[in-house]
Amino acid sequence: MSADGAARRRRRVVIIGGGFGGYEAAHRLKKADVDVTVVDRKNHHLFQPLIYQVAAGALSEGDVAAPVRAMLKRQPNASVLMAEVTDIDVTRRQVVLDRGERLDYDSLIVACGGATSYFGHDEWRDVTCGRRRSRMHSTCAAASSARSRRRNGRRTRRPATSG
Ligand SMILES: Cc1cc2nc3c(=O)[nH]c(=O)nc-3n(C[C@H](O)[C@H](O)[C@H](O)COP(=O)(O)OP(=O)(O)OC[C@H]3O[C@@H](n4cnc5c(N)ncnc54)[C@H](O)[C@@H]3O)c2cc1C
Repeated sequence: MSADGAARRRRRVVIIGGGFGGYEAAHRLKKADVDVTVVDRKNHHLFQPLIYQVAAGALSEGDVAAPVRAMLKRQPNASVLMAEVTDIDVTRRQVVLDRGERLDYDSLIVACGGATSYFGHDEWRDVTCGRRRSRMHSTCAAASSARSRRRNGRRTRRPATSG
């Protein structure tokens, strides 16, 4: 790219994570003269505060998750990439993706959440249900499918009893 072209190129902001922090950062850059790329390993934003309600059967999974792409579709300067970031090459200003690709950035926002801490007692991991672990999400998924099965069961039984 020529020096002139480089001067005209917009600043590339890469955001790792499309959760609370990543979405908010992208949204706040809506009117900025930058190109924003949100990278998340999942295609959806999970509204974690409502996970308990999913586990309790008061809400379904779809009520607490929304596609990141859909959330940012009205933001012309933002694009979304589904990939896992495996490394950050600070020297080259690139994030490394699980498929081996590299993504250039001028500014990087790291908003990839946290992990459950067991305060030095990693053995507790096997006997607890960490809020941020996939086991919690599987529990929610299991609760949700059990509910769907019950609903579907009711639906299929109804015609039989009325007929
Ligand atoms: C059960 C529960 C209830 C909660 N209730 C409340 C509440 O009532 N009020 C409140 O204020 N807060 C609550 N929180 C906390 C709140 O959800 C978190 O503080 C908030 O989600 C943190 O935002 P974040 O952007 O840092 O991370 P997250 O929202 O977790 O988002 C991180 C994103 O990064 C992605 N990611 C991670 N690593 C990578 C990678 N290597 N490559 C690509 N993508 C990656 C993840 O897929 C995820 O989408 C609750 C949390 C939980 C678990």
